[in-house]
Formats: sequence, C-alpha cells, structure tokens
Amino acid sequence: MTVHYAIQTNGMVINDKWCRFLKEHRFLVGLSIDGHPLAHDRHRLDAKGRGTFARVLQTKRLLDAYQIEYNVLCVLTNPLAKEAQRVFDFLKEEQIAFVQFIPCLADLDATSTNDYALTPRNFAGFYQQLLAFWLQELTQGRYLSIKLFDDLLNLLVRQQVTACGILGNCQVQYVIEADGSVYPCDFYVLDEFRMGYIQEQTLRELFSQDCSQQFLCQKKDMPSKCTQCPFQKLCRGGCKRMKDAMYVDSEGFCGYQELLKDFTPRINEILGLLQGVIQ
Ligand code: SF4
Ligand code: SF4
Repeated sequence: MTVHYAIQTNGMVINDKWCRFLKEHRFLVGLSIDGHPLAHDRHRLDAKGRGTFARVLQTKRLLDAYQIEYNVLCVLTNPLAKEAQRVFDFLKEEQIAFVQFIPCLADLDATSTNDYALTPRNFAGFYQQLLAFWLQELTQGRYLSIKLFDDLLNLLVRQQVTACGILGNCQVQYVIEADGSVYPCDFYVLDEFRMGYIQEQTLRELFSQDCSQQFLCQKKDMPSKCTQCPFQKLCRGGCKRMKDAMYVDSEGFCGYQELLKDFTPRINEILGLLQGVIQ
C-alpha cells in the first residue's frame, strides 16, 4: 500500500530540521498565509500579540529552498474578499504556485451575523475578480493553481470530482480525532455524528452506522432559486455547510451561480491558454 503524507501548519516552528524530515518523507505541506501581509497580521498573532507574517514568510522561503511541495491555504473572510487585487499581487510577488481559499464560516449554531463570515456576494465579487487576474496571467504564459478553478476544470472537462460537495452530495470523510473517535466530515465533529472508534470498528462498519447514513441522507433545504438555475445539475445546491458563505442568500442571490456564469462560457478559452502553459 502506498501512503502519502500531508501536514497542515501555521508555519511558526518549521526549521531546517523539520524541512529535512518533510523532504525525506515527501510530505505535501499546507501553509496558512492569509492573503497578504497586512491581512495576515490582522488576525494571526503570536502569544505576545504580535503579527506572525514575517515568520511565516520565512517558513515559505525555507520550503522553497528545500523544494518541498506546498500549497498556501488562505482563510477568505468578508473583508479579505474585498481585496482580491492585493491578494493576487501578493501571490504573484511571492511566486506562489498553489493556493486554496477557505471560506470563513460562522459557527454552526450562530444566531447573529458575523462581520468576518464570508457572504455569497463577497464570494462572487472575489472570485470574479480573481478569474480576471488569473486569465490575464495565463495570457502572459504564467499559471497559478487556484483550487476552486482546478476543481471546476476537473468537473467540467474531465468529469472528475475533486472537492467534496461540488456535486451537492456529502461523502463520508472519516475524520479521526485524538481519542480515536470518527466523524463523517470535519465540519460536523459533533456527538450526534460520532460514527464510532477507529480502535474498535473497521471503516466498513463505521460507514454502515445509522448516524453515518443519517449524515449522508440529511435533507438540505434547496432554495427555490436552485430549481430554475441553469447549473442545477452541476451543483444541486452545493455543500450544505457552505450554504451561507457561497450559495443562495436571503435575497435570492447565489454567489456560486454568478461565478459559474463567468467561468463556464470561457472554458474553451481557458483550455487553450492552459495548453500552452502546462505540459
Ligand atoms: S458538509 Fe460539505 S464538506 Fe462535509 S461532507 Fe457534506 S459536502 Fe462534504
Ligand atoms: S449555483 Fe446556486 S442557484 Fe444554482 S443550483 Fe447551485 S446553489 Fe442553487
């Protein structure tokens, strides 16, 4: 059996010794950098309340020096979503090759609004701008891997699903917590969805637990907008946990639909440009 290692880090303690280890065992590293220096330092503070960007950038440089594969993970808050240009300029400046934006979500049981939680309008605004910058770069022969664009291309061109929920249905992910308890999805590490313990049950047994099946069959309230949507078969309402961040809001605006309206008509143009850039 082949085992692939991946690790997620805030980059605070990665030194040469770590890098030698990560390189030797061919780890894929996820490094958290929140968009651009100022945005990162606004939220990611050390124990003394100081911004951590400089240290994380040092880690990024170390990973480059050791030629360790990594992708940058960036939490996309509402304020950051309004700064697409700065985010893209930073990615270019630092020659970051792979980036994934992770929507900032309100708590599952949140009752009030949260300024940081991403909204569908800001999701759309951010990705529409990013698409324009990304295409501009592609026409110059420079390619940057943006996870959501890759997922869309995989789905639309290769009919491959490379992101959970992109076709609107949940899958059991087997998230294992420190005590061995197993949950179907890292958004739902809740007692009601604990499938069992990895020390006691096989994956097949865990999968057939009632609570796993309940999680998979949980009904999603599909907004009426979805029934009229030209992308309904491609999306089916999307990931249930992301619904407030990127899909249909209370005014009937769907951020993902807006992005698809921009992205899908340009598929041939994108594929043509990619051909010249990626072997
Ligand atoms: S909630 Fe979203 S990420 Fe979790 S299993 Fe369902 S589709 Fe996947
Ligand atoms: S793109 Fe938006 S409106 Fe269309 S099916 Fe998906 S969630 Fe519904």
